[in-house]
Amino acid sequence: MKVFYNSNMSIDSGSYSPSGSKPAAAVADWLARGLAVQIVDFEPATEADLCLAHNPKFVRQVLKGRSPNGHGNRRKAVTNSCRWTVGSLVAAAREALTETITCSPSSGFHHAGYAHNGAYCTFNGMIVAARQMMIEGRVSKVGILDADMHYGDGTQDIIDVLNLHDEIKHWTFGSLVYDLNFHQDELLCAMGQALQAMKADGVELIIYQAGADPHKNDPLGGLMTSAEMRERDAFVFKECMAHGMPVVFDFAGGYQRDANGGIEPVLELHRATAEEAIRALAGARSTTKKWIRMIDTTAQSLGKGIAIIGGVRAPRKPKQR
Ligand SMILES: [Zn+2]
Repeated sequence: MKVFYNSNMSIDSGSYSPSGSKPAAAVADWLARGLAVQIVDFEPATEADLCLAHNPKFVRQVLKGRSPNGHGNRRKAVTNSCRWTVGSLVAAAREALTETITCSPSSGFHHAGYAHNGAYCTFNGMIVAARQMMIEGRVSKVGILDADMHYGDGTQDIIDVLNLHDEIKHWTFGSLVYDLNFHQDELLCAMGQALQAMKADGVELIIYQAGADPHKNDPLGGLMTSAEMRERDAFVFKECMAHGMPVVFDFAGGYQRDANGGIEPVLELHRATAEEAIRALAGARSTTKKWIRMIDTTAQSLGKGIAIIGGVRAPRKPKQR
């Protein structure tokens, strides 16, 4: 699985959320454990890219340090890391269209609205990535499936202000959570229905925000066991594959700490998401291979010559003698 990582996207933001330094920690964890990942470099988002989601004046003020970033400070290095997290998601989204599943180990997007930021979110990379794919003519509609514990208010604000309701379909778990009367079956059912509706609406790419904070031990969550969160991720990847919708996933949330103040409990949850993505990707590739073998066998049984085009065997005209 291709993971769009550059060390510039990771920094200790100095805030309560560990999200700033998670990209490096998660990638190091996956490589150390031998997950089947390929690290891919990319370019950071430009000021113009960020204006695809935000008021240009707001973007300029934040980049110049005249307004705070989503972590509540004006440190240029922290703000600059957010250009890299957005760039990661854009690059991963583009590649998902040919790779089927890709990863951007980034977070801090969904509370960033059209002209405001906060709650550890500086710029809304999901909207930037969705709009960029449409501008490049790669897709006509994008679905955002946000499984973070909290309502994606920034994402919805941008969709409302820029009137993107037709081209960006937004489902956010936070809009379902009113109390702690949580049932996993209901969540999976709601997600399944959302993905089905997106497919029916013509969505051609899913941005899946695999939030870690619904976990039962999370100080800002409290709903799901580790097994249920893994099941959630596996379900999303399986459904996207079944509907033929490529998917790029990113992180969000995750505020648990271990006894030493480390973020191992959060890394465990992101690792589970990555493992399920890799499993789904392997399944999708073996299905494609089976399909190619089927075409191959059928063509041979018809007694035709075979030419290889782009890895898929196709019939060719017999040679003239
Ligand atoms: Zn959250």
